[in-house]
Amino acid sequence: MINFYIDLDDVIFNFSRDFAAFVNDRYKKEKCVIPDNPAEFTEITVFGMEREPFLYLLGLYIESGRFAVQPLMPGAARMMLRFAKNNIKPNFITVRDPKSVIHTMTRLQDVYHDLGIRVPYNSHRLWIANRKYHKKWHIINELSRFVTRGIFIDDHPKYINDVVKHCPGVIAIWMNTLNVKGDDCCPHYEVSNWEEVDTLIFNPENNFEVLLANSAHPGVQQNLAV
Ligand SMILES: [Mg+2]
Repeated sequence: MINFYIDLDDVIFNFSRDFAAFVNDRYKKEKCVIPDNPAEFTEITVFGMEREPFLYLLGLYIESGRFAVQPLMPGAARMMLRFAKNNIKPNFITVRDPKSVIHTMTRLQDVYHDLGIRVPYNSHRLWIANRKYHKKWHIINELSRFVTRGIFIDDHPKYINDVVKHCPGVIAIWMNTLNVKGDDCCPHYEVSNWEEVDTLIFNPENNFEVLLANSAHPGVQQNLAV
């Protein structure tokens, strides 16, 4: 058995582009334009604003209930259905404000319901980290205590590097959906969409050991200097 640990924003849900649309609609102009190849993963390079105004606008995005109706990334729904049909219950791990918990749960269950899953809440698990107290790699190591083989999929270089460094037995797939220049990201695999993930993990010749052996870090992960 393999545990899947999957990020939500810009992996399952199209957060950054939806947030930019929300901001532009509020200001009635193209205030927030996401560049094709951000130099790095920061608010200033991705959204064109400093952290303070970003957090202010994110607060408005949360208050307006946008997390309850977020659009999906291309191919995400198909993959969620494929997981469900293969009896894979993914662990969705996200860092979000506690105010958005109900909206996040609602949106995920709506997606599974729309896919025809009879019991949406039983098809996945949701872990919401509070950035002040939890880290994704802590959650993953807790969840990995009984299932030692895991696959982690995230778009943020920092979380990928954390898992590569601290979570032995977990393959980190960097889904670089924003096309961030990735000089300082050290994933086992880099992909840009769900189709590429599908090719990796549902290829019958690619069991977990083969995936790990063919990856950028086939050896002991925790010794990496990232
Ligand atoms: Mg993300």
